[in-house]
Amino acid sequence: MVTGQLVNRGIRDRRVLAAMAWLPREWFLPPRLERQAYDDAPLPIGNGQTISQPLIVALMTAALSLRRGDRVLEIGTGSGYQTAILAHLGLRVYTVERLPDLLVEAEERFRRLGLDNIETRLGDGAGGWPERAPFQGVIVTAAVPCVPPPLTDQLAPGGRLVIPVGDLASQELVIVERGPTGLRERRAGGVRFVPLISRLAFTEEPWT
Ligand code: SAH
Repeated sequence: MVTGQLVNRGIRDRRVLAAMAWLPREWFLPPRLERQAYDDAPLPIGNGQTISQPLIVALMTAALSLRRGDRVLEIGTGSGYQTAILAHLGLRVYTVERLPDLLVEAEERFRRLGLDNIETRLGDGAGGWPERAPFQGVIVTAAVPCVPPPLTDQLAPGGRLVIPVGDLASQELVIVERGPTGLRERRAGGVRFVPLISRLAFTEEPWT
């Protein structure tokens, strides 16, 4: 179901399509929303947070352009859906979430799916995860007003950071690549994410 929508919207990466066809999105939603699991939309997952729209998960995953065995850092585990897609692609996944309730539920889903290539951490991910750096890919699934420097610092040569940059209302997906002559940046379209809450990003939850 999901893959039909994705192919129609221009997603070509076969590995990403196969991973999204494999992963049951309903396992990542509160029971009352299971019937909407294959809607082309973000959905609430509790604690004021959302699971991303499948198209955005596919776009961001493909933009990372990673190979089996690469190390990837994810900031904003949330439901764990994006994390599980990365893990299914055979990447070594390091994921950071600031809300304990969401992280506990995501970890339970990883166990149930038999995904053992995911390491989790509770805390502010804006500083990256220096003990596990460098990473071939860094993916941030919450919005920032500007790119937190630790995240580009922790990119391996040739590595890519995919991150929504903008204000609370809307952002642009930014892809930063560590090339031979330094960091190169390009923009990949408009998106809308919940904010990254950090002294290095948005300092307050707008809904409180
Ligand atoms: N990728 C997720 C979507 C997560 S929504 C999914 O597929 O479900 C964004 C997540 O970022 C939320 O769970 C939120 O709690 C988390 N978050 C916000 N600020 C954070 C920070 N500073 N460090 C780590 N996680 C953060």
